[in-house]
Amino acid sequence: MDDAYIALGSNIGDREAYLLRALKMFRKTGPVSLTGLSGIYQTAPVGYTEQEPFLNMVCRLRVSVGPFELLEMLLNIETALERKRTTRWGPRTIDLDMLLYGNEKIHAPLLTVPHPCMFERAFVLVPLRDVYPFETLEGASLTERIASCSDREGIVLYRSSQDAESLLNQAS
Ligand code: ADP
Ligand code: MG
Repeated sequence: MDDAYIALGSNIGDREAYLLRALKMFRKTGPVSLTGLSGIYQTAPVGYTEQEPFLNMVCRLRVSVGPFELLEMLLNIETALERKRTTRWGPRTIDLDMLLYGNEKIHAPLLTVPHPCMFERAFVLVPLRDVYPFETLEGASLTERIASCSDREGIVLYRSSQDAESLLNQAS
């Protein structure tokens, strides 16, 4: 069993509903169990900026499958939630990115772990800090990493992790 950390993002339609639907699908997927939820943050788009703001969060999963099977699960959930691949970094109903899988380092054509851009993105590191049990990640403090991210000003707490969990429990 390993801990994996997944970043969730949405900026089309009922963004929060898409995040909650993805989390519910994790709960229903046998080989993973949902063991931690960050708060939900509203964040300004990075990269392709002519699009609506995102809601972003990170969850922790306890997984009994390998990283490639986990990636396949993420892609299947994206497809089930109407994800269409058009513009890279463009609008999406749901994006599920594997940030960390245990302590593994993977450089495969379809999977890079730790996720290649995560250390420069406050919209990933701020929610990760809510669920990651250590202050240091890959030899540097999370707080210091966040302080040096250029997108850190565009991030606002939208829903606390406790409220996100209550919403998830209410949702049928
Ligand atoms: P992005 O997340 O950069 O906007 P996509 O969500 O469209 O891009 O992902 C494109 C591909 O990235 C996926 O099909 C997957 O094979 C690959 N990929 C590589 N590393 C990862 C990772 N750590 N997590 C998720 N996808 C990854
Ligand atoms: Mg992605």
